[in-house]
Amino acid sequence: MGLVYPIRCGGCGTNGHTLCKECIDTFLYVDEESSCPMCGMPVGIRSVCGKCLDEKNLFNEGLYGFYYENKLRDAIHSFKFSGRKDVGKRLVCLIEERIVAFSARFDCIIPLPVTEKRLKERGFNQSFIIAEEISRMAGKPVYHSILHKIKETRDQYTLSRDERKKNIKKAFSLTNEATIQGKKVLLVDDLYTTGQTAREAARILLKGKAESVVFFALARTP
Ligand SMILES: [Zn+2]
Ligand SMILES: [Zn+2]
Repeated sequence: MGLVYPIRCGGCGTNGHTLCKECIDTFLYVDEESSCPMCGMPVGIRSVCGKCLDEKNLFNEGLYGFYYENKLRDAIHSFKFSGRKDVGKRLVCLIEERIVAFSARFDCIIPLPVTEKRLKERGFNQSFIIAEEISRMAGKPVYHSILHKIKETRDQYTLSRDERKKNIKKAFSLTNEATIQGKKVLLVDDLYTTGQTAREAARILLKGKAESVVFFALARTP
């Protein structure tokens, strides 16, 4: 059976695949053996990096798929901004084995929310698509009506450390928190840059009496 619509590569736009082999070959996977177990920064060995020692880290551990470089950037862009959910799902599938290995550390999944306004603009929350894929692989439920983003924040990487803290403050709220009490939560985002957003969301979840929080991002800045 022929395809009715040609599938275009989310990295380079050529016809034929959701992601073509040439693009996938440019992806750099985060290697657990040689990166920080909190933030995925390459440090040569599996050891907590200076930045994470400096910050009060509120999630116990992190799993990161790729470094945000090469064609992976284009793939994430088409996922986030051109509505290519198939590209996002394919990216998660590329690291399925690592996700399954990590799944003993959590018993439910919470996607990092976007504001109502952003949701209307984009039509979907990319973190939710990632969370659904992880849920299918790990056999753990996704809770999407617990953590809410109630304040629009500016892009964190353009700000100084103090500005970032101010920017993210009071950005999240919790409802139905009984659902996560005593639970090990996996918090999911598409991209990890400064970690400020993840730390603030983790803080709110722990305040709501989640037992622990681990973190997943599809990509992190190199
Ligand atoms: Zn391609
Ligand atoms: Zn680190």
